[in-house]
Amino acid sequence: MSQWCDHCDRPVEGDVCEICGESVKAPEPEPMPWLWRFFILSTIIYLIWRIYQLIMWLSH
Ligand SMILES: [Zn+2]
Repeated sequence: MSQWCDHCDRPVEGDVCEICGESVKAPEPEPMPWLWRFFILSTIIYLIWRIYQLIMWLSH
């Protein structure tokens, strides 16, 4: 996977940019925030509820 140099605005092969010599090691990926998980979960529950209502309405 190639990295990205913010200084030169170009992709870099390896850990150090060959243009400016800056280290472009990718930062540790942050864990997904709880608020985001809650948002996704509530969206899924809402969609399931809407589909359930639609099925109930269609079979009426
Ligand atoms: Zn660079």
